[in-house]
Amino acid sequence: GAAHVVVVGGGFGGATAARYLRQRAPDVRVTLIEPAQRFYTCPFSNLYLAGLRTWDSIGHGYAGLRAAGVEVVHARAEDVDAAARTLRLSNGQTLRWDRLVLSPGVDMRWNALEGYDAAAAEKAPHAWKAGPQTLLLRRQLEAMPDGGRFVMVIPDNPFRCPPGPYERAAMVAHYLQQHKPRSKVLLLDAKDSFSKQALFQQGWKALYGDMIEWVKQSDDGQVMRVDAEKLEVETAFGTRHQADVLNVIPPQKAGFIAERAGVTDGSGWVPVKAESFESRQVAGIYAVGDATIAAPMPKSGFAANTQGKVVAAAIAADLLGRAAPTAAYANTCYSLIGPGYGISVAGVYRAEGGKLIEPTGSGGVSPLDGHAGYRAAEARYGEAWYAAISADIWD
Ligand code: FAD
Repeated sequence: GAAHVVVVGGGFGGATAARYLRQRAPDVRVTLIEPAQRFYTCPFSNLYLAGLRTWDSIGHGYAGLRAAGVEVVHARAEDVDAAARTLRLSNGQTLRWDRLVLSPGVDMRWNALEGYDAAAAEKAPHAWKAGPQTLLLRRQLEAMPDGGRFVMVIPDNPFRCPPGPYERAAMVAHYLQQHKPRSKVLLLDAKDSFSKQALFQQGWKALYGDMIEWVKQSDDGQVMRVDAEKLEVETAFGTRHQADVLNVIPPQKAGFIAERAGVTDGSGWVPVKAESFESRQVAGIYAVGDATIAAPMPKSGFAANTQGKVVAAAIAADLLGRAAPTAAYANTCYSLIGPGYGISVAGVYRAEGGKLIEPTGSGGVSPLDGHAGYRAAEARYGEAWYAAISADIWD
């Protein structure tokens, strides 16, 4: 019968791979496994927190993928048998596959910060997967008193969406400026520098004055312990900070199914071949998105989307007995600092000598001191990007 490709995860990487595989190899059977009936995107979830987007507008269903011929099964993948080439699902089904694609995103490393586990996240949300956690954080913001303190705990690299915490700081500040202007945003970081740093700091200052304070690792920014009950954190040097709303973004690793499949290494992430994103450890299993080790590509939805297209092309070529096209990858991360104030970082990547490289002179960031029209244009590009990628993947 027809070859069967099973894709785990209906987010940015997995849904892209499934859809593009159907396009490139219409005779191949493609099954997508995703527990949620509706996928809420992390991109623009910070805008939801700010009140600049409705919750509905960042949710996507799977009718578009079904119309493209993808069989969508709403279940959780529980285990992989790489030798037998089977996948066991939470609904009791076991699927046989000829090629397996994993795009499970990230799992939190519970207790990597002392005291921060799944129960603590119900008091001090991470909101680093869009869903109930995001809604909880928004309710907490609404309940916060004017003059209160929003504290965010930020992890070291690598983690999902390098500019994400700093965009969130701006979006929270926007909300507070509108509704509780005497409040403060305190960022406690396990790093000494971050993505688009100069641009963010310039934008924060221009729009929010001194509302946002960033404490870097070497200035005692690294949090070691979390007391979610008291909404208190303790740093490496023993300083305690009390929050009114506590947003803890913990260290992360590949979604657990990658480990079950035997494709993760000691880092908790998935090493892949640069030219195809096939696992370096298990033949026939591919991984895309945040779960992979793809530096210098960031863990972004844009990156996951281009990786998904490369994997679809590589698998289609393999199954049809053709040579795979040369892989090319790209990324742009737009961040919104305030309404009409956007910034971006862009990169292109290719495989060379078995490694992913960013060709010299490619890519770049928005200009520092860019004029207002430039920032307004980039805010519009960000919105257009969101609409375009949503249409490309789900809608
Ligand atoms: P996901 O998109 O998370 O998809 C993983 C899917 O797999 C999920 O639907 C999950 O339910 C499913 N899954 C997991 N395990 C299983 C299993 N065992 N069985 C079945 N299904 C499973 N990126 C950008 O490009 N631009 C942005 O502006 C941007 N903003 C962001 C803002 C925030 C606040 C955050 C947190 C992230 C942001 N990102 C952004 C990053 C982006 O969300 C991720 O990089 C992207 O989602 C990665 O895609 P993925 O396919 O690896 O994972």
